[in-house]
Amino acid sequence: MSLKSSSTTRRTVILSAAGLSTLPFLVQPKRAEAAGAMAQSVAKYQAMPKGNAQCSKCNYFLPGATPTATGQCKVVAGAISPNGWCQMFAAKHG
Ligand code: SF4
Repeated sequence: MSLKSSSTTRRTVILSAAGLSTLPFLVQPKRAEAAGAMAQSVAKYQAMPKGNAQCSKCNYFLPGATPTATGQCKVVAGAISPNGWCQMFAAKHG
């Protein structure tokens, strides 16, 4: 099993446990991208990276005005540091 599939499985389990197994469909709005509603405590958000993983490298991150400014997240509610991390992390591709 590759790391990618292991990560995907873990995320799927977490989403299912939270009753959010349909979340990928909910976080791909057709209009302007909106911030998420999951509490930071539920996502185990922290304001520092976890290894090489951090919000600025996450597919769900909505950047602020500058690369170092606080942004938002498509999944997690509230202000999100580009240097933060949570267990919903999904690496950007490309
Ligand atoms: S790591 Fe978590 S809080 Fe940060 S952008 Fe990704 S999903 Fe949002």
